[in-house]
Amino acid sequence: MKLVLLGPPGAGKGTQSVVLSKQYKIPHISTGDILREAVKAGLPLGIKAKSFMDKGELVPDEVVTGIVVERLKKPDVQKGYILDGFPRTLKQAEDLDKALAGMSSGIDMAVYFETSVKTAIERLCGRRVCKSCGFNYHVKNIPPKKEGVCDKCGGVLFQRPDDNEKTVMNRLKVYEDQTKPLIAYYTKKGLLKKVSGDLGVNELFKVLSNTFSDAKIA
Ligand code: AMP
Repeated sequence: MKLVLLGPPGAGKGTQSVVLSKQYKIPHISTGDILREAVKAGLPLGIKAKSFMDKGELVPDEVVTGIVVERLKKPDVQKGYILDGFPRTLKQAEDLDKALAGMSSGIDMAVYFETSVKTAIERLCGRRVCKSCGFNYHVKNIPPKKEGVCDKCGGVLFQRPDDNEKTVMNRLKVYEDQTKPLIAYYTKKGLLKKVSGDLGVNELFKVLSNTFSDAKIA
């Protein structure tokens, strides 16, 4: 099951990916997570990416595509994978297809999480993330038991630097301009599956099990 998850920032792609990855035992590949790790570790990639990320701009295509193509050469992707936050431009999608043509098979489905701008802004601006385990909270919708502290591991919760209102607005504009055309791209290929951004994970399992025999939940 080779999936691309599409949708604006705040659509819930990351949250759904974590559950899908656990259920189907396939890797969750998030370019945002990979880049944030590189920033944290002070790697040259992180130093290059940080200024783009802080402004809510996209990191250059060749940098991000290179990371993903290398990742897809690892043996753990044989059974499938979930691409979260990649591709984000037509160029990335085309280069991904070219790279996959030279490997084994292409993408099976692009799941598009349709979400209103209002919901995306509300979700992103209220999001808090655990510094230690990465679990996501929301100040109103998923508050931790104790303010600022992770229920799971006791870690400190923080707001991502790009989750402030000004950067969020830019990220949504970048999505409209550069990522939304991918909906037409995958529709043309017959791979797009549109779902609601409010879809519960059990409903998502149902959608996938209608298409993939290996997505049946026992
Ligand atoms: P995300 O966690 O997916 O919201 O990504 C956070 C930030 O990382 C984005 O706002 C971009 O600056 C950068 N980024 C993540 N994925 C990509 C991508 N496929 N292409 C370019 N930039 C990306």
